[in-house]
Amino acid sequence: AQRTQDLEKATQRLKIIADTDMLTGLLNRQALTERMLSLADTHIDGCFSILVLDADHFKRLNDDHGHLKGDECLASVSRLMKAKFDRRSDIVARFGGEEFIIVVQDDEQGVMLEKLEELRKEISQLHFANDAGHLIVITISIGAMTAQATFSENIDDWIKLADEQLYQAKNNGRNRISIHHVS
Ligand code: GH3
Ligand code: MG
Ligand code: MG
Repeated sequence: AQRTQDLEKATQRLKIIADTDMLTGLLNRQALTERMLSLADTHIDGCFSILVLDADHFKRLNDDHGHLKGDECLASVSRLMKAKFDRRSDIVARFGGEEFIIVVQDDEQGVMLEKLEELRKEISQLHFANDAGHLIVITISIGAMTAQATFSENIDDWIKLADEQLYQAKNNGRNRISIHHVS
């Protein structure tokens, strides 16, 4: 019985490691997909928001200040995301590179957009110094879509709409939110 228990614990630990992005401590893409699929299976009514967040001109930040500084910025940005979207039902994940996805369920009080705007602002107010002591600023653009759960069973349909809004946010000047409500 003890060995079975130990094995279960070890398996749980391994699962956590497999689900976690090393740099940011957020869920990785594989874990995000798993959770979204299981949401699609279980949560039949209610409203969902998919947020796609992408660091602005991040290639330039890396070029100017080095990849390690870039990593540090991504880790700090991730901490703010996790702190802001901290409900049990919130899913905060690194989608890849300098791109993140947050899934918010049942935004009944309508606070999601408020929190998102706070997050955008907090990230733009982060202070980093490069090796010469100069200030580094990082901003993010956010594409968001909100729809009823019945909108589509295909996760890619949700992400595609949020991605279109991200493209809008970038085109409109970056460091901003663009949102689409599917009626
Ligand atoms: P845009 O505002 O249009 O999003 O411009 P961008 O420069 O952020 O976009 P682009 O896709 O051209 O570049 C993304 C950069 O992100 C390039 C890549 O080196 C950097 N990047 C991706 N993953 C990591 C990472 O884990 N660490 C660091 N430091 N940089 C990363
Ligand atoms: Mg970018
Ligand atoms: Mg990108």
